[in-house]
Amino acid sequence: MKRIAVFSIPAHGHTNPMLPVVSELVKRGNKVRFYSFDEFGEKIKATGAEFISCNEFLGELTKKEEQGLKKVSTTEMSIQDLRITVRMNDFLAGEFADFKPDVVYTDSVCFWGKLNAKKHNVPMVVSTSTFAFNQLSSKYMKNSPAEVADMIFGLPKISKELKKLEPYGYKVDNVLSLVQSDNNTDSVVYTTKYFQPYSKCFSEHYAFVGPSVFSDKQPDKSTNRKLVYISMGTVINDRPDFYNKCIEALKNISADVIISCGNAVNPKNLGELPKNVSVFPYVNQLEILSKADVFITHCGMNSVSESLYMATPMVLYPQTGEQFAVARRAAEIGAGIMLENDSAEGITKAVSEILNNKKYSDSAFVCSVDFRKASGASGAAEFIETAPHSASGRDVIAEMNKESGKYQLIYWAAVIALIVLFCIFVTPKYSWIIGIVAGILSTPFSQYIQEKYIRKL
Ligand code: UDP
Repeated sequence: MKRIAVFSIPAHGHTNPMLPVVSELVKRGNKVRFYSFDEFGEKIKATGAEFISCNEFLGELTKKEEQGLKKVSTTEMSIQDLRITVRMNDFLAGEFADFKPDVVYTDSVCFWGKLNAKKHNVPMVVSTSTFAFNQLSSKYMKNSPAEVADMIFGLPKISKELKKLEPYGYKVDNVLSLVQSDNNTDSVVYTTKYFQPYSKCFSEHYAFVGPSVFSDKQPDKSTNRKLVYISMGTVINDRPDFYNKCIEALKNISADVIISCGNAVNPKNLGELPKNVSVFPYVNQLEILSKADVFITHCGMNSVSESLYMATPMVLYPQTGEQFAVARRAAEIGAGIMLENDSAEGITKAVSEILNNKKYSDSAFVCSVDFRKASGASGAAEFIETAPHSASGRDVIAEMNKESGKYQLIYWAAVIALIVLFCIFVTPKYSWIIGIVAGILSTPFSQYIQEKYIRKL
């Protein structure tokens, strides 16, 4: 029997995948304390774990901060995460002294869980609710200009908040080291090696346990009438413009259409609905996906995993960098197509392509079979109970960085030689141009070496 402290941030997408694992840990006789927030209290208690409310540490938010969180701004989320860590410091010091956990199981972006596990020297297992993102797999993301600007302009603000951690004994170099997956941290990832990009580059510290799906329902696509399901998830779903385009695009196709529009949109405001279209604020998504023939999705990790689990091919319409990574991988395995043109005509074309071409559903089926073979919640529970783990295999990322470092040395030696020759035989006046060009080219050069190394593997 182990004493396990569990931490998550106040978000369903991060809390949900942990619940079946926590349930399994309790079933196996472990004593589990789950530190979370009132909104999630009921479903946490249903796992049998002891729920500890941390609402008093959330703090008051200004309108601007609230807006930032709603838009999933990396800066705002990091700042709030850091502030909560400071507010929870004394409380968690008491909890670690009193509960004496053997293991901490914490969400990958829950800073107070990760930092306190380190500070109190307790073995930690990180829960990764999307793909594991390291140096290589993070290249799958494509951040919008607004997201990039948010990250760049937010860095000084985040650094300022990071400094406030120091007096409490937390040591953090930079925020990236807090969120990126590394090959030395025990991590549970809710997907399989098949679906994870660059899965061979992750060490034995990673347990790929398959999607955390609350259903053993089998896909059932036997009805003659086709079904198209549309959802933009539960966070950024205030998109009446997009729902209207879908309605326009699909009103004349020979299929039923179900739209889950979320609470921010009133279905009545979408006008008179064609006979084949129904709109609801929230649906039983797994139930619908088990029967659906196409899913138009915003590409949240949970939605895409559920779709693949139910062998449903997708029209992929990602809205954030992370969702883009999930979409890109789904397209790569052949289980969906990107919605490049989101006009009504573009939507009709993409849906028809999937309905008329069996290769997409075949690819989704292959992934469904793979997902259903994964070790699931019991695999994750065993991994947590037996932490900390050691890894005897190769650390591909460390090897790759070593190789790339070697070539960087050669590269810069060549650049210096070139500058010296240029100064001697041409003119010293413009030699700085060579330095600037070499500086600009050094990143793509290093990426090229890394890619080449990985391809060689
Ligand atoms: N969901 C649901 N019914 C709905 C809409 C969404 O059950 O009408 C669930 C869905 O099954 C998934 C989660 O909400 O588990 C959405 O998570 P995801 O990671 O896809 O997107 P997010 O909402 O975090 O953007």
